[in-house]
Amino acid sequence: MPCIGRFAPSPTGPLHFGSLLAALASYLDIRARNGRWLLRIEDLDPPREQPGAADSILRTLDAFGLHWDGEVVYQSQRKQLYEEALQQLIVLDTAYPCRCSRKQLRARGVLGYDGHCLRHPPDEHSDIAYRVRHTRADQQFDDRIQGVRRYHWSGHEGDFVVFRRDGLFAYQLAVVVDDAEQGVNEVLRGSDLIDETPHQMELQDQLGYPRPRYAHIPVITNAQGQKLSKQNLAPAIDPRERQTLLLLALQLLGQDPAAELIDASLDELLHWGIQSWRPDAIPARLHLTPDTFPSGHLASTQALLQ
Ligand SMILES: [Zn+2]
Repeated sequence: MPCIGRFAPSPTGPLHFGSLLAALASYLDIRARNGRWLLRIEDLDPPREQPGAADSILRTLDAFGLHWDGEVVYQSQRKQLYEEALQQLIVLDTAYPCRCSRKQLRARGVLGYDGHCLRHPPDEHSDIAYRVRHTRADQQFDDRIQGVRRYHWSGHEGDFVVFRRDGLFAYQLAVVVDDAEQGVNEVLRGSDLIDETPHQMELQDQLGYPRPRYAHIPVITNAQGQKLSKQNLAPAIDPRERQTLLLLALQLLGQDPAAELIDASLDELLHWGIQSWRPDAIPARLHLTPDTFPSGHLASTQALLQ
């Protein structure tokens, strides 16, 4: 069976270094096995999106030589598929309406969910969300990088939203439908998403989809231990510094690029990355320090540390 992987950014801003790292790792992991690497834009949440961000992400991937196979898939054009999956879950009686707002859950001191709307079903004509119940109290999986992860939920605490009160499909549902529909069997992404995985596995089981293998690369933190993200204004990466950034990314992924690669072209770097790919060398955790950098004078790499 061919390997099929994907990179699936949300267009909430330009690609930052943490996303580049995930894109590169996923790309190399698939290309090293002659698989197909797909690109999916997860644009299901218009209020969080930034105009032009999707195009900017595509241009940046292109500039870094991370060329995807086939057409770009946009989640905003696939709502019919998510609607069908939601209906399937409702028929299975695992999805149920919920009208609880975050504020109400907070006021009740609820972590996860407390099953309130199962005991007091809301009027289905009001603005309701749909939650899905877990059909088992325990879930586990063997992550290729982070190792075995075990989860346990009591009562309804693990029940999760698949359709939001604001009328948008939730990430959990869309990602599971798309991965299955696109035949994705290798998911490699940032470990900030690792605890979403057991919910996605539950949906895969309920909807009769095969389970991909999962690998979660570490999320980079800066010297202060803060996650680099669009939220804390991690700088956009500069394609003019792409060789240095790729070299840095390879180094952070534990790939130990040879010293002579310091002057290599983009193609040579990617070629080396594919030929020498060692997924087992990816560290489970990553902190950026000033010593991380091969040449510590580039504006964007310096900015990552500030
Ligand atoms: Zn509720």
